[in-house]
Amino acid sequence: MPEKGLNDLWKSLQDEQEILIVSHRNPDGDALGSSLAMWHFLRQMGHRVTVAVPSPYPQSFGWMTGIGEVLIFDEQEEEVMAKIEKADLFVFLDFNHISRIDKMGEEIEKQEKPVLLIDHHLDPDLSYPYYYVQPGASSTADLVFDVLTRWQQTTYIEDPVVSSCLYTGIMTDTGTFAYNTTSDLFEKVTRLLKSPFDHIALQNRINHNLTEKQLKILGYCLYHRMEILPDLQTGIIFLTKNDYSRFDIQRGDTEGIVNYILKINNIKVAAFFTQQPTIVKLSFRSVGDYNVAELAGEHFNGGGHKNAAGGSHFKGLKSAMDQFKKVLPEFINKYKQTNG
Ligand code: 5GP
Ligand code: MN
Repeated sequence: MPEKGLNDLWKSLQDEQEILIVSHRNPDGDALGSSLAMWHFLRQMGHRVTVAVPSPYPQSFGWMTGIGEVLIFDEQEEEVMAKIEKADLFVFLDFNHISRIDKMGEEIEKQEKPVLLIDHHLDPDLSYPYYYVQPGASSTADLVFDVLTRWQQTTYIEDPVVSSCLYTGIMTDTGTFAYNTTSDLFEKVTRLLKSPFDHIALQNRINHNLTEKQLKILGYCLYHRMEILPDLQTGIIFLTKNDYSRFDIQRGDTEGIVNYILKINNIKVAAFFTQQPTIVKLSFRSVGDYNVAELAGEHFNGGGHKNAAGGSHFKGLKSAMDQFKKVLPEFINKYKQTNG
């Protein structure tokens, strides 16, 4: 399992430092859970710590302890810039390359300060002095658990605030323990659940938190915007610019819609196309060996995980969908042999 410098870093963490934890754009439960767990831990150690993300987080995570102190680069650029300049150490959580944090990444690169990267995406950038990466692991929170264990800081895993953050990351990135789970992971989750937090309430806050409008948008997508290609075991959903204005669709309203396509039997690949003001954003999901990170990387300027990836297209919605349908048969046939 690739890792570097964790013992040296632990030694240097014995002295107080200014630390900036950063995670990716459109932060999800794992980005926030792993970042806040690390924030609570490092603060309790006595460091001066800040979490910053490029863009706002969904309100369904508003209950998390400490989330009000997370800085959002798009809205608080000056404050984040000041933290970037002051930091002695950057902690990168839940993204594999600095390009995933846009302008914030460019500013951080100028500083030439040490970085700790903890991540579970494919193709992590291993140019940093400290890292702990495991492509294919359930979540970054799962790896933060490992790093705390490595540093013999398991008392923090028993702290209900830290454990509920780690639980949030693992739960959300595994589709509430539906995929990427192993007996090892369940053992970790069992450890987390020994600390007193209400995991049922936590699940309800995150999973049962749609607005009426969001559920209706899902219904519209499934009824009017879904196309199934049975021979290619693939399903597509798309939303046009016009749909966005007609239903007043906001950021976050379409979260998770792509996953519904995989509920159809025999579907191996799901693709969701959304026509944004200047680009088309793509989200892919798959089952088994079908590596959609490869599809996203080779054809749509993106990447991600084997079974959950995304990218962008710059020539309009029709062109994006045509491009997808053009490259799809070869992609499906390549994996079909092994998957049946
Ligand atoms: P989602 O479909 O939920 O937006 O993204 C699923 C996964 O795909 C994310 O974990 C993220 O790592 C990856 N991903 C989404 N969009 C992009 C992109 O534009 N570039 C890259 N490199 N990865 C992406
Ligand atoms: Mn993650």
